Amino acid sequence: ERKELSKLKDLPCTTVDGKQFEICSNIGTVKDTEGANRHGAEGVGLYRTEFLFMDRTQMPTEEEQFEAYKAVAEAMSDRPVVIRTLDIGGDKDLPYLDLPHELNPFLGWRAIRMCFDKPEILNTQLRAILRASAFGKLKIMFPMVISVEEARRLKQIVADVKAELSKEGIAFDDTVEVGIMVETPAAVMVADLLIQEMDFFSIGTNDLTQYILAVDRGNEMIADMYDPMAPAVLRAIKRVIDCSHEAGKWTGMCGEMAGDERASLILAGLGLDEFSMSATSIPRVKKVLRSHKYEELKVMAEAAVNQPTTEDVKALLNDFIAKH
Ligand code: PEP
Ligand code: MG
Repeated sequence: ERKELSKLKDLPCTTVDGKQFEICSNIGTVKDTEGANRHGAEGVGLYRTEFLFMDRTQMPTEEEQFEAYKAVAEAMSDRPVVIRTLDIGGDKDLPYLDLPHELNPFLGWRAIRMCFDKPEILNTQLRAILRASAFGKLKIMFPMVISVEEARRLKQIVADVKAELSKEGIAFDDTVEVGIMVETPAAVMVADLLIQEMDFFSIGTNDLTQYILAVDRGNEMIADMYDPMAPAVLRAIKRVIDCSHEAGKWTGMCGEMAGDERASLILAGLGLDEFSMSATSIPRVKKVLRSHKYEELKVMAEAAVNQPTTEDVKALLNDFIAKH
């Protein structure tokens, strides 16, 4: 079976009736690009930059960050790389930042919220990303956005950093796309407005599931309630994809759900444009999507989002898979 899957490496993720999906890899370090390339990733849908900031005693400098981002851009050559800005806080700590203890860290001072309060962190990171954008096809993505105010503020910061670099005569890709992770219920509710500000969305189902269902993603006691196949989550996903398409833009997904070959059938049917997952999941998802018809997936996905319970969604999916 492994041999069969490895043959898929250079084939596009195209359904039997010709609908093409982009299959990308999530990475945490430049080393992960090896696996991404080996498994035929068409790009990087999520580069979690946190790892560059961890296991050290102080912030990485602009130069260190630039070298890291440039190495990733070059390793993927002409294929796109979505770089996510620092998403620290929540369950991720940086000892040298002296983050305060919080009662509800997942609802607290994390990601862009911290970056707004410590502008030098975001400024340095954006300078490094933009400088590296001269060496590949980089896109910038911001985590944990909840409002149009935030989206506009982030866009303004990118514009300011670009102006700064221009003034210094430093090269960067002026056409770099800027997008956000949709991982809060607020972002889902105003997705139609947010997409007016942004070039793309990437759905972070790990956090989105936890926030929509109000179920801590790391709490064993309620782990059985944590399920992205819940109708509430599926409807959110559908809404986000539809809003982006109505605006002529694209939506990806970089949460774990995108790498689940069964869930991928529903996501494809909802018209998700890009799937980003751990590299090892790529061949299986590709194989599954390549063996189905988009027109049939659409009908099934439409039915899935209209099921009353998670169990009904899963029964419908089982039934669909058994018949194909
Ligand atoms: C997510 O929330 O789905 C996501 C991809 O981000 P992280 O898991 O890094 O929070
Ligand atoms: Mg997240």
